[in-house]
Amino acid sequence: MEALGMIETKGLIGAIEAADAMVKTANVVLANAFGKAVGVVVDTHVARLAARLKLTAFADAAKIERDLMELIDPKDWIFFSHALILHGRQVCTAARPDCAACRLADVCPSAFTFPHNRGRKAEGPSTKGRAEARRSGRDGQDL
Ligand code: SF4
Repeated sequence: MEALGMIETKGLIGAIEAADAMVKTANVVLANAFGKAVGVVVDTHVARLAARLKLTAFADAAKIERDLMELIDPKDWIFFSHALILHGRQVCTAARPDCAACRLADVCPSAFTFPHNRGRKAEGPSTKGRAEARRSGRDGQDL
């Protein structure tokens, strides 16, 4: 009955969008308040990063979440969402992804494909470089 009321007031598309938002909110609350991962939170940052990293071919949040849940170990769902959100806010922003400073640049299919940074190169240590530093015990010294 509640769903029918929502469809009447918001229209079908609006009701679907509202339902998606409720699922996202429920996932966030369960993850943050109770440490319970029932899915991967897909907000605007996670959706953008998932697309740029080619972890999904979908634009719809529910489908992106399904793809990410298949790729990521359930024990990492909460961390993964937080990591992508933070990375999306600080480095891989919507308008000007900073690929030169990005630690994922050497594994990201979208690296340096944007007009403002096309043709540039990574400035920081690569993922491979950091893995080598970890193995040699230099991890954290030059990163
Ligand atoms: S390399 Fe560029 S596009 Fe890829 S995740 Fe990093 S900032 Fe985003």
